Amino acid sequence: MRKEVLNILGCCRCKSELNIDKAKTRKGDTRSGNLVCEECGLIFPITFGRPVLMTSNVIKEWRSPVSEAMGIGEYVTYDQSIEKLLLIGIDEALKLVEERKRLKEDDLESISEIPEEGIAKIRYRASGKWFKSGNRMERLLTFPWKNGDSDNSFNILMKKIAETQPESLLDIASGGGFAVSHQVWFNSGIKQTIAVERDLKCLGNIQYRFKYVGGNQTSEAVGGDVRQLPVRTESIDTAMMLNALPEIFGITSALSEAYRVLKNGGYFIILVSELPFTSDLISSGDFRKFAERADLYSGYEKFQSDAEKCGFNIESSERFNEKSGKFTRLISLRK
Ligand SMILES: [Zn+2]
Repeated sequence: MRKEVLNILGCCRCKSELNIDKAKTRKGDTRSGNLVCEECGLIFPITFGRPVLMTSNVIKEWRSPVSEAMGIGEYVTYDQSIEKLLLIGIDEALKLVEERKRLKEDDLESISEIPEEGIAKIRYRASGKWFKSGNRMERLLTFPWKNGDSDNSFNILMKKIAETQPESLLDIASGGGFAVSHQVWFNSGIKQTIAVERDLKCLGNIQYRFKYVGGNQTSEAVGGDVRQLPVRTESIDTAMMLNALPEIFGITSALSEAYRVLKNGGYFIILVSELPFTSDLISSGDFRKFAERADLYSGYEKFQSDAEKCGFNIESSERFNEKSGKFTRLISLRK
């Protein structure tokens, strides 16, 4: 982590500035230490060079947002969580969601330590070894992807982000960093890129991708939760998100956080499937009923109306017919 990024990063709870404590630095890069919020007292670790700006209640490996909404802690797939939802019944499950929402601010605690296994995963992926096994290099580290295909929704997303000419770019829920590393590769005008991701092992992938495209000096993978972005208010020119909405519990909080961190006139550009998650296990009507009330992604219309309630203007909303037969939407929101 480079110290310059602290001009943009902030405490995930109170959004105040962070100070470095007990830092070990190599060639201008902070490899370990703590980031301390003097305003509210939370302490965040820097692990293998990555700032982890989350509280202990949100740190996790991926699990279905349906389970998370119901407060079920097991590591389960989407289909397993739908089976559980049907077993409980939608009305009962919604009661669990309401209980879950009452989580108080006071329950937020500092992460005492990142488990050794988690650190090992970040280290392995950041080393590039993960990419070099199997045929991942070809699938995941080809720049540009789909070169020359001007009708491709991903390429149009990349172009649209670049056209906003951001100096500061925030990628929200980066996953492995596929989209954000493309933008860094493609757009040399960006002075600071921050990729926020909650699944810690992914931080290694994202930072390796930044290094691979030569963006290591301007780009940082940061552990963080989209509902409590570890980013200072009005510090970002453009925010982006690729296909992450169906993975999020707390869509409206994520929207209001995106709105908060953007400067006035800033853009939030999203590519997402038009429909919410579908499964043979549940009718789309039943899933939508649950998703709307549980604050999960329930389709682009609801998302756009939530964005407007939050204060965004919908600058454009364009449909793409993907090769998979599904429709996606490229949505450009402006603050
Ligand atoms: Zn704080």
